[in-house]
Amino acid sequence: MCNLKNFDVIVIGGGHAGTEAAMASSRMGCKTLLLTQKITDLGTLSCNPAIGGIGKSHLVKEIDALGGIMAEVIDYAGIQFRILNSKKGPAVRSTRAQADRVLYHKHVKKRLQTQKNLLILEEEVKDLIFKNYTVTGVLTKNEVKFYSRTVVLATGTFLDGRIHIGLSSYSAGRMGDKSSMDLSIRLRELSLRVNRLKTGTPPRIDINTINFNDLFIQHGDVPTPVFSFMGNVLQHPKQIPCYLTHTNEKTHEIIRNNLDQSPIYTGFLKGLGPRYCPSIEDKIVRFPDRKAHQIFLEPEGLSSVKIYPNGISTSLPLEVQERIVRSIKGLEKSKIISPGYAIEYDFFDPKDLKLTLESKLIKGLFFAGQINGTTGYEEAASQGLLAGLNAALYTMNTDSWFPRRDQAYLGVLIDDLTTQGTQEPYRMFTSRAEYRLILREDNADLRLTNIGRKLGLINDTRWIRYNEKVLNITNETNRLKRIKIDPLSSDANVLNQLWNIHLIKETSVIELLKRPEITYKKLKSLNIFQEGIYDLEAIEQIENEIKYEGYIKRQSEEISRQIKNEHTFLSSIQDYKKIKGLSNEAVMKLNDYKPLSIGQASRISGITPACISILLIYLKKES
Ligand code: FAD
Repeated sequence: MCNLKNFDVIVIGGGHAGTEAAMASSRMGCKTLLLTQKITDLGTLSCNPAIGGIGKSHLVKEIDALGGIMAEVIDYAGIQFRILNSKKGPAVRSTRAQADRVLYHKHVKKRLQTQKNLLILEEEVKDLIFKNYTVTGVLTKNEVKFYSRTVVLATGTFLDGRIHIGLSSYSAGRMGDKSSMDLSIRLRELSLRVNRLKTGTPPRIDINTINFNDLFIQHGDVPTPVFSFMGNVLQHPKQIPCYLTHTNEKTHEIIRNNLDQSPIYTGFLKGLGPRYCPSIEDKIVRFPDRKAHQIFLEPEGLSSVKIYPNGISTSLPLEVQERIVRSIKGLEKSKIISPGYAIEYDFFDPKDLKLTLESKLIKGLFFAGQINGTTGYEEAASQGLLAGLNAALYTMNTDSWFPRRDQAYLGVLIDDLTTQGTQEPYRMFTSRAEYRLILREDNADLRLTNIGRKLGLINDTRWIRYNEKVLNITNETNRLKRIKIDPLSSDANVLNQLWNIHLIKETSVIELLKRPEITYKKLKSLNIFQEGIYDLEAIEQIENEIKYEGYIKRQSEEISRQIKNEHTFLSSIQDYKKIKGLSNEAVMKLNDYKPLSIGQASRISGITPACISILLIYLKKES
């Protein structure tokens, strides 16, 4: 055995969950060790080189508001930025950026390697060390023991990972990486619930063999969006376009004729895949009437020759993949650089986790990322941040922290996972959040930075800028409330002439801003308005809060009612069998899910309002 080493927090895995976990705990002052298979793989984008998108970008902005690195990194690595749903309301507007894979990794690595309190070692963990159902350290393949009161497991798709291409399969964590077999075997020996999921990726195509001439070109947005609250467009590298093409009848025929060589349709691959990101085989089988499916040809980087054909994830044999690709417009002469494949891996039932992502069974052991049944870099990173900060709080013997559903998409994510579990890879959507108008991308900083600062995650520079913004919002909102326009004034005339607004009584400028057609910028043409402010983020905030005031107020009232339920705890109940009046189904589910609160119990499918009343009566009697 080698020498022993002690840390406050040990993180296993340098993917998106592991890197955010390690950064969070070390920023909070904890001596942190990150153990990962390869340092050259820190923050690797295993599949699509893109960050954000609908629902996911909300998570990225929340990570940023809590001092995490994902938004900052993509600002330095994004080669095409767009705002999706830009014509819809602010609740569902989402930022998405295409990433340069190499730059992304470089900026993750730079941040980790310059972070105080953080040591990164290239070691594969093969076992965990426990004492009385409490984790005390880890053992690596090189027989080195590291000790710590907390361990964050963030091993992604690597636990008993198995790649499938056609009817052949082999053990791997992802293409080019070994799977984590020893650890998988050891974890399966614990009394944790474990199951299999799958995901897939398309073949990568040589850019020099594509004919882009007749393809639809898609440029990024101008002005170019920025992800981080602290970011700016000058950080972005050169911006380049993506291209659009489609599958066709010939492509579909090739796929249909080769389903007998698909590991999914021949039953070789049993784990369920992501419903919202299906393979091209799945799309052809599930939607037989569709004549074409979109394919976005996305560059993997400024100096990469690889193109990622977004939309044709497949695990058919390589020879069939080649025929599929060449049947597509623009790709007739193209060459595949690396094949598409599916991967099946172990995941642990997230119902066995607390809302802090600590295991309910093993003290000090936290789970984050794909290992909890999610899919996506953003879902993984946000869980990593939460697990890392709670591991730090645990070692400090301080109260844990997790966001509620009305505070953050991260709150929705952890509540969904720990309350409902998941049968298929879970990805975030705006539709999963019931308080969408409150959980906007644009106000993530206002929702979370204060909390992040108290937790020790926010540095002084960000804190100063944040307070400036808050002050700008408050002062300017108050000023707008004070400016009143007389119906007989020249400004009233301007309103009438430019926007057909007829004032019949004295009206404040803030009331005018409630009208959908009136923007802050337009109001600047009124004499009485004077100069105003130039802080664009503060202006966006003022506009959204005023325009949606009525809806936001209603959601806030609903949240106040719900909070009472979230604070009515059920932790005193060990066995629901002893509560009279509950149905057998309710007893079984409540014993299985062990909800933390009445709020959480009410979100379990099959737990009716009648069950909730019985629980409330029981709690009242007990108190
Ligand atoms: P990962 O990024 O997988 O990182 C795990 C890390 O743990 C790795 O660095 C690994 O080296 C390390 N590790 C593992 N075991 C050990 C050990 N025993 N000791 C030390 N280190 C260890 N997401 C999407 O949103 N859309 C998609 O279409 C999509 N398709 C995908 C296709 C494929 C083939 C794969 C592999 C993934 C895909 N994903 C997709 C998922 C996305 O890559 C993951 O959700 C995300 O990377 C998960 O992050 P993570 O940090 O949990 O794990």
